Amino acid sequence: MIIVMRPDATAEQVDHVADLINEAGLKPHPIQGTDLYVVAVIGDDRLKDSSKFEQVPGVDRIMRVLSPYKMAAAETKPGERTQVRIGQGSGCVFGGTNIPVIAGPCSVEGEDKIIEIARLVKDAGAHALRGGAFKPRTNPYAFQGHGEDGLKMLAAAREETGLPIVTEVLTPADVELVAKYADCLQIGTRNAQNFKLLEAVGETDKPVLFKRGMSMTLDEYLQAADYILAAGNPNVILCERGIRTFENHTRNTLPLASVPELKRRSHLPIVVDPSHGTGHAYLVPDMSRAAVAAGCDGLAIETHQDPSHAMTDGAQSITPTVLKELMDSLARVAEAVDRTCLPLSTV
Ligand code: PEP
Ligand code: MN
Repeated sequence: MIIVMRPDATAEQVDHVADLINEAGLKPHPIQGTDLYVVAVIGDDRLKDSSKFEQVPGVDRIMRVLSPYKMAAAETKPGERTQVRIGQGSGCVFGGTNIPVIAGPCSVEGEDKIIEIARLVKDAGAHALRGGAFKPRTNPYAFQGHGEDGLKMLAAAREETGLPIVTEVLTPADVELVAKYADCLQIGTRNAQNFKLLEAVGETDKPVLFKRGMSMTLDEYLQAADYILAAGNPNVILCERGIRTFENHTRNTLPLASVPELKRRSHLPIVVDPSHGTGHAYLVPDMSRAAVAAGCDGLAIETHQDPSHAMTDGAQSITPTVLKELMDSLARVAEAVDRTCLPLSTV
């Protein structure tokens, strides 16, 4: 942190600031410039409330140097990128050269249907199966998911296909139950700052697909990721799923610049969800290719065998046929950016 003093600050005021920094257990380093003093603060000020210095007489402003997150920060693992595997012994690894695709319906609708779509997305080349058993619905009267029965259906689909399963957990009370069935716990956008839930999934040994909150800055997002990491779980996969803006031609705005920016700031792998990011199936293939070109480490794509009869998010769900064609073109885009997007059967 650097404390910039006002041009008319007195020597006593600079000394007072230095005393307060010492009191906080940090080391002050006053630097006299041609027009004013700045006081550099040596030491990790992230655990202190540095904003209080703004109130001190003679202080003009505070500039933070360290990022407010620690464990998620790129500096924590210089030159290294975290790789997260989902499913024991599976080839579904995020953060390596290959770009895995998580595909499946928004909700688990029934056992036959989830097994059928699991087979279809596997044939199309997908690496993992998604499907919500506990659904966070805006409308309290809407379908809330099949709960534990849905988890059992997902487990049956994994049994049939070998695909690892990704499914959402909504509350700390359900973490143990969902972790019993899932290979990867999804934290949805609406829960991205539910810190007790983040701590609870941080205490499990299951990888976490951690979606960005729809109104979160990247700083807030990475601080939230630190809740999971600090609780002892290193296997966090970030997921850009779009944010709220004034624009309404899409369900959310999918800011793909966050992909290279998150990779600059963090060692964690980053997945893009172009389904929730756009809300329209016709935009999903182009935005998936754009996400790969932007450097994403994976994709999460809602896929349904019959989108017009989907129980949730039909408008944004692509068909397995579209997914298969998409996988072919993703492989070509991946090659252009020195990555691969090889189907599960070949990795
Ligand atoms: C989902 O994946 O179906 C979902 C509810 O996602 P989000 O939390 O991004 O809205
Ligand atoms: Mn959905």
